[in-house]
Amino acid sequence: MTQRAVPFYCPYCGDEDLQPYADKHGAWWCQSCRRAWSLSMIGIGTPSRLGGSLGEDEPPAES
Ligand SMILES: [Zn+2]
Repeated sequence: MTQRAVPFYCPYCGDEDLQPYADKHGAWWCQSCRRAWSLSMIGIGTPSRLGGSLGEDEPPAES
């Protein structure tokens, strides 16, 4: 099993002072804004293949 890279910035406040949260996989705690949050993968593939979209008004141009 490969190790995943760790996040460098808090997604809520942008601070870099993150600590692993309670031994939960992919869970982090931000010391600056005191939020606990987790990262999770949705899937591998293009957004349309995963049944979603990129959340933009215009779809990306097909190449
Ligand atoms: Zn934060």
